[in-house]
Amino acid sequence: SKPVVAVVGRPNVGKSTLFNALAGEMISIVKDTPGVTRDRIYADVSWLDKEFTLIDTGGIEPESGDVILSQMREQAQIAIDTADVILFLTDVRQGLVDADFKVADMLRRSQKPVVLAVNKVDNFEKFMPDVYEFYNLGIGEPKPISAAGKQGLGDLLDCVADHF
Ligand code: GDP
Ligand code: MG
Repeated sequence: SKPVVAVVGRPNVGKSTLFNALAGEMISIVKDTPGVTRDRIYADVSWLDKEFTLIDTGGIEPESGDVILSQMREQAQIAIDTADVILFLTDVRQGLVDADFKVADMLRRSQKPVVLAVNKVDNFEKFMPDVYEFYNLGIGEPKPISAAGKQGLGDLLDCVADHF
């Protein structure tokens, strides 16, 4: 069967937007504010000669507070248990928060391949200094993308597919 790639990340970082951009159709609900959403969470994606199944682990999201961290841990655990590659999505505009470090620790300990993407880099020149901050997560090179602008997605998929 096809390799599984799971997208993990805090509410509102752009998981559903990325999922839709990669799946090429509007099948995951994009919300302007974090909230409880039940998205369709699986899509088959083709990239060059590779095919994989993409999972948006953010299909059910909490409103706020400590619940976000426990929900992220749950998402990360699902990803660790089911995925061949984990795509950890962060947001250059929200910046790094404690929950990101905790999830990064979990992912690092799992020894699963992790690709770190930094979303909402709508202007690569302007935001690159901020993108470098994400090296501090200790899970490798942060890849700048704009899911909404469909920028950087090819390079990101190359990194993902390198692990198949
Ligand atoms: P999720 O909660 O992680 O699934 O995030 P969503 O995909 O629902 O997106 C949350 C918000 O971020 C929405 O308002 C999106 O339009 C916005 N967003 C997503 N990707 C980008 C991007 O590349 N650039 C900008 N500026 N906004 C984005
Ligand atoms: Mg979502």
